Amino acid sequence: MLPLPVLEKAQSELTNYKESGMSVMELSHRSALFTEIIEEAEQHLRELMEIPDNYKVLFVQGGASQQFASVPLNLFGEKGKADYVNTGSWSKKAIKEAEKYGDVRVIASSEDANFTYIPKIEKSMIDPEADYVHITTNNTIEGTAFHEIPDTGDVPLVADMSSNILSERMDVSKLGVIYAGAQKNIGPAGLTVVIVREDLIGKASKSCPVMLDYKTHSDKGSLYNTPPTFAIYMAKLVFEWLKELGGIAEMEKINREKAALLYNQIEASRLFSSPVEKDSRSIMNIPFVSPSADLDVDFISQAKEQGLETLKGHRSVGGMRASIYNAMPKEGVQSLVAFMQNFEDSNQ
Ligand SMILES: *Cc1c(COP(=O)(O)O)cnc(C)c1O
Repeated sequence: MLPLPVLEKAQSELTNYKESGMSVMELSHRSALFTEIIEEAEQHLRELMEIPDNYKVLFVQGGASQQFASVPLNLFGEKGKADYVNTGSWSKKAIKEAEKYGDVRVIASSEDANFTYIPKIEKSMIDPEADYVHITTNNTIEGTAFHEIPDTGDVPLVADMSSNILSERMDVSKLGVIYAGAQKNIGPAGLTVVIVREDLIGKASKSCPVMLDYKTHSDKGSLYNTPPTFAIYMAKLVFEWLKELGGIAEMEKINREKAALLYNQIEASRLFSSPVEKDSRSIMNIPFVSPSADLDVDFISQAKEQGLETLKGHRSVGGMRASIYNAMPKEGVQSLVAFMQNFEDSNQ
């Protein structure tokens, strides 16, 4: 979802942005009007996430999936070693890609338990010689999340935050690199946000494609080539919406209330259950199952008739999954919970 006020604002400016006679889609990426958009977008994000001055914000393309390669290509120094935590399908993809470029060690995994929990990461597990440690802070498909950022000492921590960036307060200074595809909590698809500590820029291997090198985008203020201009404009509107709401602290409060509504319903239910261990649960993606796959199918189709969309679990896990990203209002979760109760009452 995108917040409705954001879509309405974009609609009102669609054909004539600030009396330019043009849509943002038609503006040159070097024009004064677009320069203002990209600079404001960065400034808003810096304020929202309290990004320290020694971090760069990059607006790139290729999705989080391209970062699975960019990260090792930029951070593998002479050692070419990294430690990864395997907490789900996205982690696995990140690991597979990094293995092409260096020596990857999986230091913890919850695969043996279908990724239903987040393993505890101790400093002693980390190779002090590693170029970085990689985690997925929120596991979109499995519905788990790290509730604290592991302490990796002097080894930079890299986080795929695609599905929980901007959803709760996060201490950026504990991380070396944060990356996120925009399409879950930031804006439309096509934009990828990378937040990278300055000392980690400029170490890319010689064979790193220029478009994947953080230095390329850092040196040129994300304007080395044409960036996804409209997606950056939409992200700016989402950041403004979030600031007006009260920032990330307020967003987190709302997100926790939304998640609690749904988890409480699941806990009290005699029909539905959560496959995820209590202390590892995500507040963004909430999977749940009924006792049978047939009943799951009924639930999903009847929910759709009520206007409750996109509740099918990922094809790799089945069941149901409610993705309640920032833009999902509390009322949306209330409707889902009411429908779950009705469904349960009529399927005794
Ligand atoms: C959606 C998602 C991805 C993939 O993002 P793309 O932008 O489609 O490449 C990667 N990691 C996580 C955690 C995700 O939720």
